[in-house]
Amino acid sequence: MDKKKVESYRKKLQAKQDELLKQVSKSEQDGREADEEGTQDVADKAANSYIKEFLFHQSDDNRRLLQLIEEALARLENGTYGECVACHQEVQLKRLEAVPWARHCIECQEKQEQGLL
Ligand SMILES: [Zn+2]
Repeated sequence: MDKKKVESYRKKLQAKQDELLKQVSKSEQDGREADEEGTQDVADKAANSYIKEFLFHQSDDNRRLLQLIEEALARLENGTYGECVACHQEVQLKRLEAVPWARHCIECQEKQEQGLL
């Protein structure tokens, strides 16, 4: 992959990383605020725990994505970016455009989703 492409993927990944880090810290703060609001009745409590559950799962997804982005940035550093981590074929450029943190090519991704990888 040429340097220009590498740079453009790095920028994309870093922008997404920034965005996610902000979201993660915001949802942690929202979770704390929901705690501090001191709910009185049962309905409030149910709503509160629902919100916390939602925020928790959301930040869980974000953390997982952050992990993938960190791995992709590491692959950019060591020159293996754009290579499928399973079959070592090049990941389709269209796929990288859509999902710059993709670890697998389309074929391996499908296998993984079917539990075959
Ligand atoms: Zn593959």
